[in-house]
Amino acid sequence: MTNANPLNTFVDKRPLQQYRGRFAPSPSGPLHFGSLIAALASFCQAKEAGGKWLVRIEDIDPPREQPGADKAILKTLEAFGLHWDEEVLYQSQQHQLYLETLDFLSAENLSYGCDCSRAKIKKIGGIYQRHCRDLNLSGENLATRLVNHHPFDCFEDKIQGLVKQPEDLAREDFIIFRRDGLFAYQLAVVVDDIYQGITEIVRGCDLLQPTCRQLTLFKTLGIASPDYAHVPLAITDEGYKLSKQNGAPAIDEHRPQELLYKALKFLGQPVTKDIIDCSVDEVIQSAIANWQLFSVPKDREIVYR
Ligand code: GLU
Ligand code: ZN
Repeated sequence: MTNANPLNTFVDKRPLQQYRGRFAPSPSGPLHFGSLIAALASFCQAKEAGGKWLVRIEDIDPPREQPGADKAILKTLEAFGLHWDEEVLYQSQQHQLYLETLDFLSAENLSYGCDCSRAKIKKIGGIYQRHCRDLNLSGENLATRLVNHHPFDCFEDKIQGLVKQPEDLAREDFIIFRRDGLFAYQLAVVVDDIYQGITEIVRGCDLLQPTCRQLTLFKTLGIASPDYAHVPLAITDEGYKLSKQNGAPAIDEHRPQELLYKALKFLGQPVTKDIIDCSVDEVIQSAIANWQLFSVPKDREIVYR
């Protein structure tokens, strides 16, 4: 029996004529200034195009999640006037589709089991050398790797321009199902971007490198990939990315106007300080009306904390 590609249904159902963007936070903590920037940029880009803006909670990694963080993130988005379209999608509700996609890839001989340890791969230089590709391993405690027939060592980003990636990394048979039994981020994100009919992805530069892998997956699945625009990252005084992991402070919901102003400045948008006396909805409406992606800088030296 040949397995049909389970993702084709979503493509057929939804012709890609309307702009569909998304914000896809992991519920590992509350929103911080860095994630507000990604949310705001993807929102303005979608709304300026007259499109839809969706929110997806990427809860596929329970050990890294914080109970209630999803609700807190959604509440903050609302307080900042970032109202989403359609229902919020939770990745924890998508397991069936991930499994069907894994089955499809396996039936097409596009994946294989691997029992190599991280330490072993590190020892051989950090890049996986397809050691298990022809071993036909089966059983418990295996990761699943993609047979990478479509390496992408570069792509054109709408903000960053031509983004390159080392060829050996691009060629790697990367993991799509983890040894600890969890779905890999690369798999889940691509399946859901297809499922939700996303036409353009606007997100932070920390995800530049995974983009090549995601393009590989789209190509392997035979489905057109979205466009990409990666906004600069807000960094801490010490030069680290502002992230939940390094304890970036949750953003203060009581003064959204001021933070929206700062975020729009950070994104290179034409805003003036008097905007902080407007209502949140007015700030958002004006941000959409004045939104220009080409003004977003490639990187940022300004430090926000
Ligand atoms: N969930 C990922 C994160 O919070 C983002 C995924 C994406 O935007 O593709 O880092
Ligand atoms: Zn292996």
